[in-house]
Amino acid sequence: MEKRMILENLKAYYRQLKGTTEYFVKAVDGVSLEIYEGDILGLVGESGCGKSTLAKTMMMDLTPPLQYMGGRLEIISRDGKSFEISQFKNRDEVKRKLWGKHIAYVPQDALNALMPTIKIKKIAYDVLRSHDKNISFQKAVEIAKERLIELDLPDYVVELYPFQLSGGMRQRAVLAMATLLNPEILIVDEPTSALDVTTQKIVLKSLIKLRKLGFVDSIVFITHDISTVRQIANRIAVMYAGKIVEVGPTESIIREPLHPYTQGLINSVASIEPEGREKGLSYIPGQPPNLMDPPSGCRFHPRCPYAMEICRKEEPKLLKVGESQVACWLYQEGGENV
Ligand code: SF4
Repeated sequence: MEKRMILENLKAYYRQLKGTTEYFVKAVDGVSLEIYEGDILGLVGESGCGKSTLAKTMMMDLTPPLQYMGGRLEIISRDGKSFEISQFKNRDEVKRKLWGKHIAYVPQDALNALMPTIKIKKIAYDVLRSHDKNISFQKAVEIAKERLIELDLPDYVVELYPFQLSGGMRQRAVLAMATLLNPEILIVDEPTSALDVTTQKIVLKSLIKLRKLGFVDSIVFITHDISTVRQIANRIAVMYAGKIVEVGPTESIIREPLHPYTQGLINSVASIEPEGREKGLSYIPGQPPNLMDPPSGCRFHPRCPYAMEICRKEEPKLLKVGESQVACWLYQEGGENV
C-alpha cells in the first residue's frame, strides 16, 4: 500500500516564557509514524497527551507559541508529489498549497467551526474557489449538493445556515465541506464526542463512506475513547506524553495490547467481550506527566506496574513486536524479560 504521510522523529513544542526564562512544553516529542492509502488510523490517548498538537503539526499549522523543533514530516499526493515540512516558508504557503487539497482537518469544536451566519452554499463556494478561481457559484453549489447527498444529507442543506442544522447534520456538513477538494488525508479530532450514540454511528458511517468512495485516501481519527475507534479504525496508534508508545492493527491492540499503558487504557473501558466483563474495570493510577519536565527514560515509568531500573534511565525505542510496534523495555534487549 502506498504511503500518504511519513513522520520521522517529529518534534513540536510550545514555547513559554516565565519572566525572562524560556520553557518548552514537549507536546510532540519524537513521533515516528506512517499513514497508508486506505488507512483509518485511530490516534488514542488521555487528554493532554499531545494528540491535538500532533494533528496541528501534521497539518503543518504551526503558529506561536507552537514551534516545529525538528524531524521529518512528508505528505505524498496521489500523483506522487512530495511535500516536506521543511520546504515551506510560512503558514500561508502551507495553507495555499496543502490545506483542503491534500490534507484537511476537522477540529474538536467542529460544531462551531462553520460561521452561523453564512449559508452552506457560500461556504462550499469559498472552499472550491480557493483552488479554482474561475469556478461559478452555480457549479460550486452543484458539487456541494452531490457531496451532501453522498453523506446521506438532503441537498436543500446548501440553502440553510449552520444554526438551522441539528448537531449530527452539522457535523456531516462540516465533513462534506472539508473534503470538497478530495484531499488525500483527513484528520478528524474527537468528531463524535458531543453526539448521542445513534448520531455517533451516523457520523462514523459518513467517515467510512468518504474513504470508500475515494473522496479521501486516509483518515486519522483522534479520540480518547478506544471503544469508538474500534468501530472504525483498521490501525490504532497509542500516544502517551508526546510520544507514540504502540501502533498496530486494531484487533491486535484491543485483544493483545503489549504496552502497559495500552493495557491500562483498554482495561479502563467497559468491555463488550464476556471475558473482558469478567475481568472488570480498572484504572491507570497516577496522573499524566507535566510535559514541561517529563520523566526520564520511559515517560510512563512513574505509573507503570512493571517499571524496571532501565525504564527510569533509558528511553525505549519503538520496535516491531509481532504485528505491532511498541516502545517498552519489556520487549527489548536490556529489559529483564528479554
Ligand atoms: Fe513500563 Fe518500563 Fe515498559 Fe515503560 S518501558 S512501559 S516503565 S515496563
